[in-house]
Amino acid sequence: MSLVKQILKIVTTNHKYNTYHTLNKSHTKLTRLSQNYISQRFNPNVCWKCGLERKNLLSVFCSECYVIQNPQETENYFRLLNLDEKFDIDTKELRNKYRALQSHLHPDKFTNKSKEEQSISANYSSLVNKAYSNLQVPLKRAEHLLQLKGDKLGEEQTLDDPEFLMEMMELNEELDNISDIEELKKFNIKNKNQLEIIAKSIDECFRKNDLKQAKAFVIKMKYYSSLGNRINGLLREKGVVD
Ligand SMILES: [Zn+2]
Repeated sequence: MSLVKQILKIVTTNHKYNTYHTLNKSHTKLTRLSQNYISQRFNPNVCWKCGLERKNLLSVFCSECYVIQNPQETENYFRLLNLDEKFDIDTKELRNKYRALQSHLHPDKFTNKSKEEQSISANYSSLVNKAYSNLQVPLKRAEHLLQLKGDKLGEEQTLDDPEFLMEMMELNEELDNISDIEELKKFNIKNKNQLEIIAKSIDECFRKNDLKQAKAFVIKMKYYSSLGNRINGLLREKGVVD
């Protein structure tokens, strides 16, 4: 083999090797990227960025690379906020846990981060807001709990209790006839007391896992809540802020 041919052979072999090496490297990179993508989409148990198993699934950040993680829980608002799954929650604890979570997710903390991290934190934060606003309101909390237990309240849910429905009609009529502000305030207190009594019954039913009764009370709560909304509207009209 002539020297020129030998040199040419070395050059082409090297070239082939380099091309192969580059391709191989980018293939490895692609595989790693797709693995990350798959783990991010389908496996909340591992970090989407570094692929490490997440030891504490409630933790917002990966313990290894400190990158923000997708929420492990998206359906159960209690678990999302690390609260016991029950109706009678400590609202102070709810508020504290909500604030603590949101402080980690504040957009200011992600201004210098990647688009992906910004997007995860924004989605996480809006989910936490949604969870908070649902758990904060007793009626919504009860409905969420019912849904989690597999007993969703339909839109057109009514109660097969003519006596109760008659009572609600009368209360609404009574409200129509109130013009005195002090009387309106008294009516409001009465309604709030009634809502508290119903809330206690709902809690008892959930504790006994009596979903049928819980549902009936949740429907009653819906009626009293809408009466409450009417009262609040009238109070605001008269300049009283609840
Ligand atoms: Zn990580």
